Amino acid sequence: MSEALIIGAGPAGLMAADELARAGHAVTVAEAKPSPARKLLMAGKSGLNLTKDEDFETFIAAYGEAAPMLRPMLTEFGPQQVQEWAMGLGQSLFTGSTGRVFPEAMKASPLLRGWLAELSRLGVRLQTRWHWSGWNNGAVLIDTPQGRQELTPDVTIFACGGASWARLGSDGAWAAHLPSQSLTTFQPANMGFVISWSDHMRRHFGSPVKGVALHAGDHVSRGEIIVSEQGLEGGGIYALSAMLRDGAALTLDLTPDLEIETLRQRLSRPRGKASLSNHLRKALKLDPVKQALLMEFARPLPPDPAPLIKALPIPLQGPRPMDQAISTAGGLRFDALDKRLMLRDRPGTFAAGEMLDWEAPTGGYLLTACLATGRWAGRAAVDWLSG
Ligand SMILES: Cc1cc2nc3c(=O)[nH]c(=O)nc-3n(C[C@H](O)[C@H](O)[C@H](O)COP(=O)(O)OP(=O)(O)OC[C@H]3O[C@@H](n4cnc5c(N)ncnc54)[C@H](O)[C@@H]3O)c2cc1C
Repeated sequence: MSEALIIGAGPAGLMAADELARAGHAVTVAEAKPSPARKLLMAGKSGLNLTKDEDFETFIAAYGEAAPMLRPMLTEFGPQQVQEWAMGLGQSLFTGSTGRVFPEAMKASPLLRGWLAELSRLGVRLQTRWHWSGWNNGAVLIDTPQGRQELTPDVTIFACGGASWARLGSDGAWAAHLPSQSLTTFQPANMGFVISWSDHMRRHFGSPVKGVALHAGDHVSRGEIIVSEQGLEGGGIYALSAMLRDGAALTLDLTPDLEIETLRQRLSRPRGKASLSNHLRKALKLDPVKQALLMEFARPLPPDPAPLIKALPIPLQGPRPMDQAISTAGGLRFDALDKRLMLRDRPGTFAAGEMLDWEAPTGGYLLTACLATGRWAGRAAVDWLSG
């Protein structure tokens, strides 16, 4: 029996632990926080979108430039396998109209409870408040409440997460212990954007904007957005956040289901004594928050406002702080790893999950790739141990 050390008890680390324990190895999971998988539990607060049930090629395309590197892992453990795994842990699932898959419980705690019980049955030792702090020659340094330990496991798997929501443990501080040439700078992903609103927008803070289309470059998102005090949030803008972060301009189509000519015809109906806002509401069914956005960015309206209603430019003032992002881009570069996800400069040391340099939109893509890479690294470590 060999000794395996996993650093980080998020979904990637727990999946790696699962594989190693099933193969009969002695597994210790070192988790810096007082309890495991805090980010997974946070993901559960919005329902826990586990994966996306869609054609595999569409699915894998969501990982953009990292798709070729992630393909082998996601081929073995993709949307279908994630669903089977969650059902195996006693979760009933449902698939929403867009293909997003959720547990019926709409939270992570029952799934996590079942998984931790299973890992405990397999003999996995979970050590909380154990913080990895680098290496001393070959030894892995772990700071514990009882003091520093120098461990020499037969294999180590890093699954320390990305660099957002530091209070849940994923602080990206691990990067300081790795050579800079192995890393790509962290950037926020799936985040909101800052807008400095005029006072007129104040009464719409917290309002959802539904039934619009957001455009950035060639990409379109039909998801909901929310007007917040700081700017715009929500799935609709997260879906475009990588393009917007990289400099694309955002325009908003307030009436995506109306052709511009239909819009013009409706606007040319006699207005009578109706105010402009009543006219917009009646002719176009623009609700108050959509009207407010139009006035915020297009006042005074030109004689033909139709082009602005179809493509309202939204001046963004950059992403919201990285710590508030759902996920992060950047991290450990794939060229610092071999195909097994083993660090080229540290044989027997593997990495998995969000700490690797890939990004994907929300929609279950994040958890699926964390589970798939955790499983892959765990299996590769088993092979490594068997020589
Ligand atoms: C609000 C929110 C909602 C989300 N919703 C979804 C969703 O619905 N669907 C989806 O697919 N994804 C969602 N995500 C993203 C998803 O939760 C993450 O991508 C996923 O948890 C990353 O898994 P991981 O195992 O790689 O890392 P993490 O879950 O971040 O776990 C890493 C662990 O490593 C520990 N650690 C870090 N450094 C050290 C160290 N030095 N020593 C010891 N331990 C360390 C941390 O404490 C942490 O427990 C959401 C994220 C947020 C913030």
